[in-house]
Amino acid sequence: MTPSEANGPLVLIVEDNPTNLMLVRALLRRSGYRAGEARSAEEALQRLREARPDLILMDVQLPGQDGLSLTRDLKANPATATIPIVALTAHAMSEDRGRILAAGCDGYVSKPIDTRAFAAQLDTLLEKRRGGEENEG
Ligand code: MN
Repeated sequence: MTPSEANGPLVLIVEDNPTNLMLVRALLRRSGYRAGEARSAEEALQRLREARPDLILMDVQLPGQDGLSLTRDLKANPATATIPIVALTAHAMSEDRGRILAAGCDGYVSKPIDTRAFAAQLDTLLEKRRGGEENEG
């Protein structure tokens, strides 16, 4: 593991599709992020008890509790309310965008994922977040 991987921001991927999970994990690592993984809302809550991520990538369609319902729960909980959540959605139509933002998500990424745009979007979100805390340029 390189130093940048060891120190990079932690992103929790909540995604039940193994192919998407593998793709997102590879993209995150390539960009110097650490990746945590959960395949359901239940697993996500377990990961959140173990470590606080800098960002959560949230698949909207999960088995059991769906991603938007989990997002509402996390945003209602003071312990997790300030963690940015980016929805991963296969349906980026306007109605769906409204539902995603109403649930409390800070942004969304359409599937299939545009790999170049995806990395840039994460950088922007995480820099915005760190802006008030650090001066990393
Ligand atoms: Mn899914």
